Amino acid sequence: MPAAPSADTPLSILHEVFGYAAFRGEQGSVVDHVTAGGDALVLMPTGGGKSLCYQVPAIARHRAGRGVTVVVSPLIALMHDQVGALEEAGVHALFLNSTLTSEEAQRVERELVSARVVLLYAAPERVTNPRFLAMLDSLHQRGLLSLFAIDEAHCVSQWGHDFREEYLQLSVLHERFASVPRIALTATADEHTREDIVQRLQLQDARRFVASFDRPNIRYTIVEKDNARAQLLRFVSDEHEGEAGIVYCQSRKKVEETAQWLAGEGVAALPYHAGLDADVRRRHQDRFLREDGIVMVATIAFGMGIDKPDVRFVAHLDLPKNIEGYYQETGRAGRDGEAAEAWMTYGLADVVNQRRMIDDGTASEDFKRIQRGKLEALLALAEAHDCRRVRLLAYFGETSEPCGNCDNCLNPPQTWDATEAARKALSCIYRFAQHRDGFGATRFGAGQLIDVLRGKSTDKVAQYGHQHLSTFGIGADLSEAQWRGVVRQLVALGHLRTEGEFNTLELADTARAVLKGEVDIVLREPREPVRGRKARVARNGQKVPAAAATLDDSAQQRFAALKAWRAEVAREHNLPAYVVFHDATLAQMAQEAPATLDALAQISGVGAKKLEAYGREILRVLGGA
Ligand code: ADP
Ligand code: ZN
Repeated sequence: MPAAPSADTPLSILHEVFGYAAFRGEQGSVVDHVTAGGDALVLMPTGGGKSLCYQVPAIARHRAGRGVTVVVSPLIALMHDQVGALEEAGVHALFLNSTLTSEEAQRVERELVSARVVLLYAAPERVTNPRFLAMLDSLHQRGLLSLFAIDEAHCVSQWGHDFREEYLQLSVLHERFASVPRIALTATADEHTREDIVQRLQLQDARRFVASFDRPNIRYTIVEKDNARAQLLRFVSDEHEGEAGIVYCQSRKKVEETAQWLAGEGVAALPYHAGLDADVRRRHQDRFLREDGIVMVATIAFGMGIDKPDVRFVAHLDLPKNIEGYYQETGRAGRDGEAAEAWMTYGLADVVNQRRMIDDGTASEDFKRIQRGKLEALLALAEAHDCRRVRLLAYFGETSEPCGNCDNCLNPPQTWDATEAARKALSCIYRFAQHRDGFGATRFGAGQLIDVLRGKSTDKVAQYGHQHLSTFGIGADLSEAQWRGVVRQLVALGHLRTEGEFNTLELADTARAVLKGEVDIVLREPREPVRGRKARVARNGQKVPAAAATLDDSAQQRFAALKAWRAEVAREHNLPAYVVFHDATLAQMAQEAPATLDALAQISGVGAKKLEAYGREILRVLGGA
């Protein structure tokens, strides 16, 4: 018989504690490197599996007598659940942050000294306070300070989108405990932010692990804004009925209105934004994490560190600022690896708003230039008629093949040559400015432009004498939707600028080249959004079923019984249901209906502790269903 693997190798810990069969992607090499005492900088997309990169080394090193791993995280609201998830898996973990009373905090510190704690989660300001550092000193002297894990490491950078002053102090860890290994983790791929992290955390000698940023189970869809609410409702209730999701809006007001409206339409929607009471925010977040099928309508104040694995969709009603933001927000869908959808509706007003926000901002001209460039890249993605994923990954420096799992791959858009139309639109705007017959205004918005091009005799056309322009009616052959597309594209490409509160249109310098016919403009035909059930097809053409979609009737019954049982356990333990078991794990149990503990142990997500704690009950539930 071959020798059994030692109980404390990273792989055996992955099997035994987490019940998973194999490391994903870069995880294995990160874990080996850090377990052996190396420093690491880990860049992985949201949902890529960063937690295990430090949790497995923490367990391995603790078993080897090296003491505690300190995890620095800004996500105070989530520490309770993170620690709860580890305890469920039989790993002794604690947290230290401002939500604890001083007695509770003292109890944590006493336990820490006892060397039984494997992981301690702490807010950055806790870690760097002198009293705590002194305690770490004494642990360190006893050889019981094993590892520092710095989560959400981009918070140290002013270039990142989530700078935290307290993170700057974290360089003290290296200065004071030079021999203790450190692992820093982030989902931010931006080169500038990355260098900042290295500088500020003094990670020059750390090994870098850059995982693929692909999230193959997420399907990307970007539709032209028509009637945003109706589009959203169709998306949420036809395609994701009863599923958990996030709807992002730009303003607090829009968040509240949208949540209220969705609720009125029978969707379990809740609002979340920084202007709400802390209490309300906590309650809504808790319900989102703990109940099934809640739709959170939120500003981007919501989501960092939300590690709910079964978020089935992320919808954007407004354009994000850049691809980094878009990717991070959409990445919150489908962390469990099951089919999920990223959906966005986008129109001319979005382009105008984002440009205005940059122009009106107080940032330096240099910084604005960077912001404009980033917006441009996002607009190109939105206007693309080829594979969205190829473009997304290219933005992060990866080359790839058309994915087969985005709107453009699944349903290639019809395109038309809009070069001539673009010239007509631009020359019409030129004529507006030249035209002096009317009174007052020489600049007009998209509405007037399209009316004139299509030859509509409105009051406003008559008022300004625009029926006399040579461009009046020269675009009657195109629909209004097509013209809207032309204008949006011209604004997106920067050939047209919008000005003032009425968004009047003005030619940019580059318009000249378009007018001369030197630039080809190809547009997608406006079209109805794709109807019907979601296509659950991944890039390799394989089906990716959402957890329970493929179960037959009797398995569905077992799945329902298991979920009811899980809800009870979660309530008793005051934890979200997914901390007990993921949907995918329950679905596999329902599918295979194991009859023995040994068979149950083979299911992904069933570790030793959970088998011991829940195994018999699960067999009973399966037997009774
Ligand atoms: P991140 O922090 O990078 O966003 P997480 O650490 O929360 O991602 O992991 C995302 C999900 O993937 C979690 O639900 C986790 O349990 C699961 N997961 C991570 N690694 C593995 C693995 N090797 N096998 C199976 N599931 C995994
Ligand atoms: Zn594609």
